[in-house]
Amino acid sequence: MTAVLLDGRPVAAEILQGVAARAHALLERDIQPCLVFLSVGASESGLMYSRRLERLGTRQGIRVSRRSLPPDCSPAALEREVAAFGADKAVDGVVVQMPLPGNLRSVDLSAVMDPRIDVDGITVENAGRLALGLPARVPSTAVAMMEILHHAGIDPAGRRALVLGRSKVVGHPAAELLLRGDATVTTAHSKTPDLTFVTRQAEILFAAVGRPRLIRAEMVSPGVVIVDAGINVVGGELVGDVDFEACSEVASAITPVPGGVGPVTNAVLLRSVVESAERRQR
Ligand code: NAP
Repeated sequence: MTAVLLDGRPVAAEILQGVAARAHALLERDIQPCLVFLSVGASESGLMYSRRLERLGTRQGIRVSRRSLPPDCSPAALEREVAAFGADKAVDGVVVQMPLPGNLRSVDLSAVMDPRIDVDGITVENAGRLALGLPARVPSTAVAMMEILHHAGIDPAGRRALVLGRSKVVGHPAAELLLRGDATVTTAHSKTPDLTFVTRQAEILFAAVGRPRLIRAEMVSPGVVIVDAGINVVGGELVGDVDFEACSEVASAITPVPGGVGPVTNAVLLRSVVESAERRQR
């Protein structure tokens, strides 16, 4: 491997240190920061993720409360539940596990969630503020990808950056943040006809696609910086959207999967919860 490994764990640890200090300052004023993890039905991966988040939050002084709705709950019931958390002043943030079951696809969480508890930047208000260049809550994974660059001392200004994926929760906000960082940004997606043409031009490549090892070594240019948010299970193993082994011989720096973007995303989310709790005092 010739590339520098962009390990997410020390980045997460640094963020969490700040989170714990801020959470404890709040606890001294009898404010218990609280995140609700809301799921519909039960999935093994969702349960594992929420338990991990609960353990991590507890260690920093943040209560992570798990709430599960029955798999056959109606769109109206889900909307009521999310809206009610907004009225509960003891709740600082809500994350709804995605994807929702098919009968709930019509629910527009961005419209029913109170921006006050929107710690993952999904509401119209926060997405709009991000687009307008105003201070906003931004989806944690997009922030985490930028934190990794920042921690490694990699300045995107003036560089050709490519974001693979345009979802509202990862690709699109990541592209906005790279633009704010003065990169020249291209976004590619499933309708991009010649992916290799654009990947080869990238000096910074953010991957958020959900296709195992889509990006191969011959698709990238020497010296590229790769930040891979992809999480795919192949034969019981977690792999990214980038062929890590092969691309790490060509790139100058690359995140591993697991251990790259994932841990930083969790730390950023908890930081957002503490920020939200701090606003209770104002
Ligand atoms: P998503 O909503 O399914 O979006 C995937 C994006 O990839 C879409 O924009 C899609 O294009 C594009 N795409 C699909 N196939 C493509 C192809 N062959 N070539 C180019 N673009 C393609 O997924 P997401 O929620 O953004 O998540 C993306 C990945 O990040 C997943 O692996 C997910 O598990 C992972 N993730 C990681 C974290 C973390 O903390 N590390 C957090 C969230 C998500 P269209 O728009 O044209 O359909």
